[in-house]
Amino acid sequence: MEKIIVKTTRRQEFIEITHLVEDTVRKSGVKSGVCCIYVPHTTCGLTINENADPSVKADILSQLEKLVPEGGRYSHSEGNSDAHIKSSILGHSLSVIIEDGTLQLGTWQGIFLCEFDGPRTRYVWVKILS
Ligand code: ZN
Repeated sequence: MEKIIVKTTRRQEFIEITHLVEDTVRKSGVKSGVCCIYVPHTTCGLTINENADPSVKADILSQLEKLVPEGGRYSHSEGNSDAHIKSSILGHSLSVIIEDGTLQLGTWQGIFLCEFDGPRTRYVWVKILS
């Protein structure tokens, strides 16, 4: 298993990690298989979406904020319930097919770490199955 470290700089942001995951696939030497990507955190998540127009990730963040506002009424006393809920909505793991030694992403797709309670140091665990 490979561990990628990502330092986030804002409370909420999407950080593209496609190149970091691709580096891991390349180093593994696996030509055909599955890449499992996982974040061991409760207030960040992962998603695959468009990496060409940055307004797409801005729209996802702003709509999540409307659904689950930071200042809403929650029971959890730590003050970051919105971050826990947003991370559960997006999920903590992804699987991407590897073929010809590369991630089989669509033309406009990128892999994003989704920070909801930063800035923090985040870990992304990558396991490659051949
Ligand atoms: Zn909490």
